[in-house]
Amino acid sequence: MDILNKFDNGEFAFSKDDIKADFKLLTRALDASYSGIIITDNLLPDNPIIYCNEAFEKMSGYRRSEIIGHNCRFLQGADRSQRARAIIREAVANGEVCTVDIRNYRKNGDLFWNELFISPIVGDDGKVTNFIGVQNDITRRKKSEQDLRAQKDLMEKQVLERTKDLKESQEFLYSIIQTVRESLIVIDPDFKVVSANDHFLKTFKVSLEETVGTGLYELGNHQWDIPQLRKLLTDILPTNNPVEDFEVEHDFPHIGRKLMLLNAHRIELEGQYKDQILLAIEDITERREIERRKDDFLSIASHELKTPLTTIKGYVQAMERMVPKDSGARFLGFLSKTAKYLDRLNNLIAELLDVSRIQTGNLKLHKVPFDFDKMVKETVEAIQTATQNHNIIIEGFSGVQVPADESHIAQVLTNLLSNAIKYAPESGQVHVYISKVSNYVKLSVTDSGIGISPEDQKKIFERFYRAGDIQQRFPGMGIGLYICEQIIKNHDGTLWVESEKEKGSTFSFTLPIQAKEDNEQ
Ligand code: ADP
Repeated sequence: MDILNKFDNGEFAFSKDDIKADFKLLTRALDASYSGIIITDNLLPDNPIIYCNEAFEKMSGYRRSEIIGHNCRFLQGADRSQRARAIIREAVANGEVCTVDIRNYRKNGDLFWNELFISPIVGDDGKVTNFIGVQNDITRRKKSEQDLRAQKDLMEKQVLERTKDLKESQEFLYSIIQTVRESLIVIDPDFKVVSANDHFLKTFKVSLEETVGTGLYELGNHQWDIPQLRKLLTDILPTNNPVEDFEVEHDFPHIGRKLMLLNAHRIELEGQYKDQILLAIEDITERREIERRKDDFLSIASHELKTPLTTIKGYVQAMERMVPKDSGARFLGFLSKTAKYLDRLNNLIAELLDVSRIQTGNLKLHKVPFDFDKMVKETVEAIQTATQNHNIIIEGFSGVQVPADESHIAQVLTNLLSNAIKYAPESGQVHVYISKVSNYVKLSVTDSGIGISPEDQKKIFERFYRAGDIQQRFPGMGIGLYICEQIIKNHDGTLWVESEKEKGSTFSFTLPIQAKEDNEQ
């Protein structure tokens, strides 16, 4: 009122209306502010709010009429024990400026983070008459900060867990490496040993100290300085070609002459392990010796069996010729069954003998040109007479003479046909396709039988291998295809299989029409 009287008395150079206009403008400016603004009267008891702008109403959710006259603390609801409150209290008591982030609550109870700036207004007498509070809702910023912190905590936790996992898997790997019954060493690009497992140290009777850091070729009295190994390892790093199943026979100090199987791979890890070579060394001396003994046994056993069998066959043939006229049907039946089973036994032993001949490189082939189509026809006829349930159909022809060992090629075809019949008991037909492809004859035997899985297809040409699921259902020794492949290989041809489980199989082979010497001319 004092001021207004002063206006009335004309003590000011500007009018009351001027002041009112300015006041209105200022109020509008304050209302236009994005920040919430309040003014408190410090001279009144409990420092009540005497002004708030629209932004503050919006921010707090209260109407002006619910704000004016209250102390600011109503914004904190029951959340009283905040450190920010003590800072405000002290600033108000000392009439100082302060900035705090404080938790406030809207009328509907929602929390919002208030960045509050308080500044005192000092009157002419030096006393603080008012406080101005400027507030910004920083809830979103706070939330992002909290999210970021939570994310950081989570990441730290994950890093800790990963480190733990890594350590565990490293320990796990280490224990595997130490337990395997294979010697393992890692060498660097200069062929110096980086690490070696227990098995290596024990086998070659060397200590870890004298091994790690030493060049592979200097190791243990130069026992690994083997020219072939040097060449292989030198090739690995630049070409990235692994060494697979490389056999080294060598006189090792302490352990004597041994046959070692070496496998070497470049270690392909990013960073520090790159360009190192993992060398796995397996002592196969004993295994090879056992295999050799098994082959020897098979060879001796089949030879030993062959001799009495030939004699028995002679006697049976003699008996067949000497059959008395009045012999009963039973006697004749027994005699023909004996002859039949004797033939089967003879074939089995002949196969075993073939295996040992192949093993020792003694498979003798007499390559004389013969009529391929005629050989196929005769072989098929011989098999057809012995089988009632299957019809063997020949398609195509080659019209050529093949310079090969006829009886061995017929043996291959017999084997493929017998398998096609044996492994397709439910189907009635076996197809034989003959064709001439470039300067080769090609023959395929197709059945619609049990088929062969892709894994088994890779192994059926190995000695004594039989597909796992047929062992009980079909008799056999697993050597027929091995012999077939060796025979075809020895004629410079190829034998292969295409098959689908439950659908059937096609075994095909090719043979050159001209002898090798002619081919090369
Ligand atoms: P065997 O028939 O005496 O077992 P083979 O060497 O002739 O020996 O054949 C090897 C294996 O290949 C067989 O045990 C069988 O699992 C598979 N096999 C060969 N021919 C066929 C075929 N026509 N259909 C399905 N499986 C076959």
